Amino acid sequence: MSELFHEQLQALRAQSLHRKLREIGTAQGPEVEIVGQQLVNFSSNDYLGLANDPLLREAATAAVAEFGVGAGASRLISGTQSPHVRLEMALAQWKGAAAALCFSSGYAAAVGTLPALAGKQDVILLDKLCHASLIDGAKLSGATLRVFPHNHLGKLESHLEWARRERPEARVVIVTESVFSMDGDRAPLRELVGLKRRFKALLLLDEAHAVGVIGTHGRGLAAEENLTQHIEVQMGTLSKALGVSGGYICGSRTLIEWLVNRARSFIFSTAPPPALAAAATAALEFLGSPAGEERRLKLWRRIETLRKALQLPPPLPGSTTPGGSAIHPLMVGDEQEAIDLSRALQTEGFLVPAIRYPTVAKGAARLRITVTAANAEPQILALAEAVNRLRAAPAVAA
Ligand SMILES: *Cc1c(COP(=O)(O)O)cnc(C)c1O
Repeated sequence: MSELFHEQLQALRAQSLHRKLREIGTAQGPEVEIVGQQLVNFSSNDYLGLANDPLLREAATAAVAEFGVGAGASRLISGTQSPHVRLEMALAQWKGAAAALCFSSGYAAAVGTLPALAGKQDVILLDKLCHASLIDGAKLSGATLRVFPHNHLGKLESHLEWARRERPEARVVIVTESVFSMDGDRAPLRELVGLKRRFKALLLLDEAHAVGVIGTHGRGLAAEENLTQHIEVQMGTLSKALGVSGGYICGSRTLIEWLVNRARSFIFSTAPPPALAAAATAALEFLGSPAGEERRLKLWRRIETLRKALQLPPPLPGSTTPGGSAIHPLMVGDEQEAIDLSRALQTEGFLVPAIRYPTVAKGAARLRITVTAANAEPQILALAEAVNRLRAAPAVAA
């Protein structure tokens, strides 16, 4: 039995594609401890520093005292508790939608929703850089899949023309993200909405890395561009800037009613703990408050500090280039070189992950720096100094 998968694992090691887990002995925050070493954290998606915020901790603790820990059953059996209902009302209002539905993760939201939106006879068009959860959801649906090159409107248009010509009866769903998770750039949302309207397609927009970061009170890119009413399926996660865990879909009442009846990851999975729903509701209340908006603006000052110190160009207003999010990829290419650079940074006290295949394409390895509102200016400047120095120096042979 111990031989099982041994060779495959060896092959991964030989290609510098092997991964392993690292134990973190502390709460998430600007500093974390890994096996006795204190590291400044530039790897987290907890963009507003809410994962360990007293407001969320207290909301969760109070909900544990009132509702206990487990939800006991799936939402349709007996697991819909008041905190879930309150969270969904707050989410719908925050996103400017008629209704919302929560899932146990963003991944579950994607793999539950896409097969409910499209079936064998339908067509799903995906951006090449879409998150694995969207790809898996699209595959699970059984629909015909077509991938368009990243943010390539011309190729998307020709796929739409093909779908309308060859599959006049099909439902056509365009799937993309507002901020791409490993590249940090944005989708050209206005143009995408124009295309989907012209071809009468549906649009699923995953705002995982935009909520909490972009738009007034962190409502996301659709809200910032005033396009909310044109996006049928607004997806997001509670796990990143909102500091908790879980995924959601916002949309029309009929869409949400359909998902309650058809999204299998919702129907056949125990409801998330009510305390998580209470904490997420507290996060939304915070985002909507002046203190929340101040935290978001602080994040943007930290982003600006990092990009200046790394001599990365500022984004053009309204552009889709990196710089318009909290994610800053430093392209390396070679997998082993990316690992070596990440290790060298760890030696100097910084946690910056090397991102490799299958998260990104082979030969497109990179460091992925995420900055949060909780990172102090001197930490960011120290990181940039180390990155600039290590990248300028010839690689040290391991
Ligand atoms: C993280 C992520 C998800 C999954 O969300 P979880 O809540 O972590 O399961 C989905 N889509 C995108 C773009 C993501 O970055």
